[in-house]
Amino acid sequence: MRKDDCIFCKIANGEIPSKTLYEDADFRVILDLGPATKGHALVLPKEHAANLYELPGDIAAKVLPVAKSVAEKMQRNLGCIGLNLVQNNGEAAGQTVPHFHMHIIPRYAEDGQKIGWVPGESTADELEEVRKQITE
Ligand code: AMP
Ligand code: ZN
Repeated sequence: MRKDDCIFCKIANGEIPSKTLYEDADFRVILDLGPATKGHALVLPKEHAANLYELPGDIAAKVLPVAKSVAEKMQRNLGCIGLNLVQNNGEAAGQTVPHFHMHIIPRYAEDGQKIGWVPGESTADELEEVRKQITE
């Protein structure tokens, strides 16, 4: 289902024009309007899902092959020397548009971007406690 007030539904389904890199029955891949680096792209499913949790399993299974194929073109044609796949879920994680999307961010030497986190510390006991919490 498309969501009437969702800008990425409109872009993915061609109601709003975009710089499209790839399209098939399930996805449109577009250039991000505010690129972190040259070629920064977004994989948009055509069906609305706010985030990873809402994304149907069959669509989720197709996201990575689409991203891989675009990433390979970027490596070949843009000459990027690295690439980040980023996928934010929820405001706490930095998601600003509530329609699932995966960022494909080609990386270049001294491109001025820093995508990462501050590493923490954990004991083996703490890791085991978390492992149990997640899996039980
Ligand atoms: P996120 O913070 O993960 O929700 O990412 C949203 C991304 O969508 C940002 O990188 C924006 O630059 C990008 N964006 C927002 N509106 C548009 C638009 N109309 N066309 C292309 N990219 C957009
Ligand atoms: Zn949507």
